[in-house]
Amino acid sequence: MTDFDKDVRQRFLFEHSDIRGEIISLQESYQSVLSNGTYPAPIAHLIGEFLAGVCLLSATLKFDGIISLQASGTGPLSMIMADCTRQHNVRGVAHYMNTQNNETNEASTPPASPTSPPQDKPVQTLTDLLGENATLAVTIDPSKGQRYQGIIPVEGDTLSECLTNYFHHSEQLPTRLWVHANGHRAGGLLLQALPCQLQTPEEREKHWHHLSQLANTLKPVEQLNFDHTEQLHRLFHQESLRLFTPTDIRSACSCSRTRTANMLVSLGLEEAQAILEEKCPIEVTCQFCHQLYSFDQNDILCLFKQSPPTLH
Ligand SMILES: [Zn+2]
Repeated sequence: MTDFDKDVRQRFLFEHSDIRGEIISLQESYQSVLSNGTYPAPIAHLIGEFLAGVCLLSATLKFDGIISLQASGTGPLSMIMADCTRQHNVRGVAHYMNTQNNETNEASTPPASPTSPPQDKPVQTLTDLLGENATLAVTIDPSKGQRYQGIIPVEGDTLSECLTNYFHHSEQLPTRLWVHANGHRAGGLLLQALPCQLQTPEEREKHWHHLSQLANTLKPVEQLNFDHTEQLHRLFHQESLRLFTPTDIRSACSCSRTRTANMLVSLGLEEAQAILEEKCPIEVTCQFCHQLYSFDQNDILCLFKQSPPTLH
């Protein structure tokens, strides 16, 4: 079992160049997310890719907040999402149709056994699983300020292709991502071209093309089985590259009683009381960590007396 670069993100720079990168590996945080549900292997692999993808995206955040990556479709996989805070807390979940009994769930088909041999390629592609008219949403929820959401159609067979398309569509800095997962580990690589300071636009373009081509040669087996130094050496050994100190990533859920209460308050007193009449107490279960939050008649009355709620 591999025991290196567990749950860390590292930034790197190409010297005398306007191109930077991020490399990440997830293991225990990925396993922790998978332990909250029972997922068939292709979906367990995709959850790893989404976690790796959202961690790479969080590296582009300049402020405190949560970034999330969510795909939805009409196929057997109706929804898959992962989010990451600025403090590098990740979580993820997927809802899929169990084709054996037609139930939508998070826990009933045979699980991706952690002991099953790692596979380099998912059995089914992202587009196979999500079906037609699938979309990918990137949401940035800053702790202060306005929420931003970009939505693109899911095009391409892999999340790496979709994310690269997302950056292409959103006219941000040229950015490419490579993510892979095997049910045990997840790995990610990001390259981003910065505004020209050290290179002319022509030099940067040429260098960007060259580095992207090199990164394209990264094999899933290398991304999941080699440490960061080794991966970067294999790809860019002819480049002068500076690798920064790793930052830890952990699995943690951002749900809380206060957040759940705020959600109930946002429904309005009338709606909350209608729900109470149907079932008392109101029970809300977090879809990520399954924490149960319960609110009885008194709790609801207190919440609305206190409204507008204080945000924590
Ligand atoms: Zn939770």
